[in-house]
Amino acid sequence: MRKAVFLLPMLALTAACGAIPQAQAPQRAAVNRPAAATMAARPENRVCLSGLGASRASFTPLPDQYYGAGCSAVNAVRLASLRSDSASLGLTNLGPVTCPLAETFAAWARFGADRSAQQILGSALVRIETMGSYNCRNVAGSERRSAHATANAIDVSGFVLADGRRITVSGDWHSASPRVRQFLTTVQGSACKRFGTVLGPAYNQAHHDHLHLELSGKAFCR
Ligand SMILES: [Zn+2]
Repeated sequence: MRKAVFLLPMLALTAACGAIPQAQAPQRAAVNRPAAATMAARPENRVCLSGLGASRASFTPLPDQYYGAGCSAVNAVRLASLRSDSASLGLTNLGPVTCPLAETFAAWARFGADRSAQQILGSALVRIETMGSYNCRNVAGSERRSAHATANAIDVSGFVLADGRRITVSGDWHSASPRVRQFLTTVQGSACKRFGTVLGPAYNQAHHDHLHLELSGKAFCR
């Protein structure tokens, strides 16, 4: 039902994380096929799906997809919403993500992002805006496949609070408000404790408008 809604924004936006445009997008093929058979064959993924369910995330398991050229979405889910302390946490523009990434993202959203918003800005989080997840491409300026090529990375671009404020990486990283700046750096710091690789505006110009969150890597936080 909703696939057409996020297909276009994702195609347009995920290219922002790197210079090389994607070759193929998975949504069209991925959404309508039954997931049960694929998931039944992967007991290790059932554990992850169960953990994701326990976090009270709303999601749909996706059939494994191999796109060739080193691009795939395996053990992936489509996240509809997450759960914070007080409410459902909306998500925008997010495509398929691997289950382990989704599980870590759900925990960071609740215990990192939402609690930072409550403590620093005095308002809970109601939505996390992203620039997508899956994107069949290389790391910008390299021959190496990006974690986005295997649905193993999420680009977070902004946060919407219950009081209506919207804080974006591009617009507020250098905000005049020390609290807003503190919120963004705290949110990035909390991501660094959970993800293996976190890249933001301080890393390079390609990341001026988002935080790149990826499980692989070891405490690479810039
Ligand atoms: Zn990225």
